[in-house]
Amino acid sequence: MNKQASLGTAVITGASTGIGASYADRLAARGYDLILVARRGDVLKQVADGLSQRHGINARSIAADLTSAQDVARLEQLLREDSSITLLVNNAGTATLYPLVQADADALQREIALNITAPTRLTKAALPGLISRGKGGVINIASVTSQMIQPGNSVYGGTKAYLLHFSQVLAQEVAGTGVQVQVVLPGATRTEIWGKASATKLEDLPPEIVMETDDMVDASLAGYDQGELVTIPSMPDIADWQRLVDARTALGPNLSRSKPAARYGIGASAR
Ligand code: NAP
Repeated sequence: MNKQASLGTAVITGASTGIGASYADRLAARGYDLILVARRGDVLKQVADGLSQRHGINARSIAADLTSAQDVARLEQLLREDSSITLLVNNAGTATLYPLVQADADALQREIALNITAPTRLTKAALPGLISRGKGGVINIASVTSQMIQPGNSVYGGTKAYLLHFSQVLAQEVAGTGVQVQVVLPGATRTEIWGKASATKLEDLPPEIVMETDDMVDASLAGYDQGELVTIPSMPDIADWQRLVDARTALGPNLSRSKPAARYGIGASAR
């Protein structure tokens, strides 16, 4: 069996530019065939054709708007039916980094559809096939904004916190099936996203907090190879993350009890 046949096909959403295009390049170099998804079919086709030629792999492009229920349904069908698929990279996303009072409600709804609904449905569609074949993976691109409780980040950070939680639970659910789940929390990464729907421009950020896209993706794929569930490309000591996980786990016994806490002065616990 050649390398290409053994790796199968990676489906990458948001592959026309930025982080998704870098994943496409790196996965093609590894020998994956590709199905690339984004709205701009012409740009996607150029990316797909270039990668096919450079790496000798098969690359298809599918123009789809992942805020559209019909387009998501088309992809779900593909994910259910194409048994060559071994990897789903849920990367497409958008960021509205404005205080809620200034934000456009319809844009927020589209952001939730793209950042939450689409990856949820696509993962759900891909999973039975991956499990039945006993191999493959799902990579969800979240963000360090999932950890940032600050103005302007209510919805975007919330969508990324969802993806983190979703991935952490999913990893437990697929344990032992041969299917790997990874969630990536990039920090600021040099892509076009910063010019689109954010009050903050990339040039306004201190250069020492901005990572180059290929470095971010290479680190994330190294984390995938190491079997990491949560990959934070810039974090020097991952034990810092583990301390947060441990602190949350320690809350467990007190998260649900029959009596209100004494500080509320309710009922018998107050006496
Ligand atoms: P980007 O350069 O803006 O690329 C976004 C990609 O998603 C493009 O390929 C875009 O292609 C596609 N896309 C956007 N809306 C879509 C829609 N409705 N349907 C289908 N595809 C759509 O952004 P990026 O920085 O690479 O972001 C990729 C992921 O990384 C996102 O989930 C983002 O939240 C996350 N992230 C980015 C950073 C950062 O600093 N850059 C940090 C943390 C996390 P079309 O326009 O052709 O549709």
